[in-house]
Amino acid sequence: MTPAVSPLPRRPCVAVRIGPVVVGGDAPIVVQSMTNTDTAEVAATVAQVAELAQAGSELVRLTVNNEEAAAAVPEIRDRLAAQGIHVPLIGDFHYNGHRLLIHHPACAEALAKYRINPGNVGRGKKKDEQFSTIIDIACRYDKPVRIGVNWGSLDQDLAARLMDENARRPEPQTAAEVMHEAMILSALDSARRAEEIGLGRDRIILSVKMSGVQDLIAVYRKLAARCEYPLHLGLTEAGMGSKGIVASTAALAVLLQEGIGDTIRISLTPEPGGSRTQEVVVAQEILQAMGWRSFTPAVVACPGCGRTSSDYFQHLAQDIQAYLREQMPVWRDRYPGVENLKVAVMGCVVNGPGESKQANIGISLPGTGEIPVAPVYVDGEKTVTLKGETIAAEFQQLVADYVTRRYGGHRAVES
Ligand code: SF4
Repeated sequence: MTPAVSPLPRRPCVAVRIGPVVVGGDAPIVVQSMTNTDTAEVAATVAQVAELAQAGSELVRLTVNNEEAAAAVPEIRDRLAAQGIHVPLIGDFHYNGHRLLIHHPACAEALAKYRINPGNVGRGKKKDEQFSTIIDIACRYDKPVRIGVNWGSLDQDLAARLMDENARRPEPQTAAEVMHEAMILSALDSARRAEEIGLGRDRIILSVKMSGVQDLIAVYRKLAARCEYPLHLGLTEAGMGSKGIVASTAALAVLLQEGIGDTIRISLTPEPGGSRTQEVVVAQEILQAMGWRSFTPAVVACPGCGRTSSDYFQHLAQDIQAYLREQMPVWRDRYPGVENLKVAVMGCVVNGPGESKQANIGISLPGTGEIPVAPVYVDGEKTVTLKGETIAAEFQQLVADYVTRRYGGHRAVES
């Protein structure tokens, strides 16, 4: 659903190409995700990357934490390509990243981007050397790098130095302000060093992830004002379920509305047995709700009230939503523009017809005491009235027919 008021303009920044995907510049805000399989388990990792890509993740990050994982990366890339999946893979490196990239040139080549954390790229004297090694390899293979600072693993030497300097000030800043500055300096100093080593400005993306909503907003606002690198947004350790979704949305919505953020990831803890793709769905829904992008047809459903005769309409809304999302991997290519489709599923005739007329296609189920029929509106006109046990199946078919008619033959138009 496209909001009536457009978001604010995006903050100008450099464009970074990651394989076929562009982050920053005038490019749309990119959705990314991360696997939680053991990367060395090739079949499981391929299956999860494929699932994330099918759900709409435009970049997928994998941990590359040991020799086995690094050795597996080229095969993962190749098996995905054999399935027709060419989503860029990002390698997440920590203390041993320099060694793994040296030992596994095929991994260095297969990855589309490297992510490093200046707080744990190495310890003591080796830190600079190991950072330089990774940047040298990125230059050699022409790979972009995300310099991803995380408050949980902030460079402790830098943090201690800033705390000491702050303590000597006549009017010291708060500990939170010093922490924010330490994160920003860690990112900017690392980016400057990467450029000095030879990495192009158009090969660098920054992030400064924190787990507190207000901290995240404050630190990204300051960072955005001090550089022109594209920014990767995400609330780290967002948590599980509604808590993680709400906290991530609250933080990202504020920043995105101000034009800050060029790629996003929602760091949700999956429910036991739950799909990893939930983080992709949430990221897409944030961008779509705010009017930045459209990914999936929108289902407008009323909340229900005392007039709702049963939970039938809730099931119908849920089923239609699931149906639309399931079709998208095929519809995305076959029916360009279908992501702008709006379907209304309403619980009674009080607001049902009005909302249905505003949608491309809508249905009003009978409320308590109403005649047990369900009028359907298509492009604002009442076309048919459904009744009986097959309302759900018939409505789904009407939606499918509408999509074919409206978006087939590349005649897509904005709704
Ligand atoms: S559309 Fe009808 S059932 Fe739904 S919330 Fe409004 S009055 Fe209640």
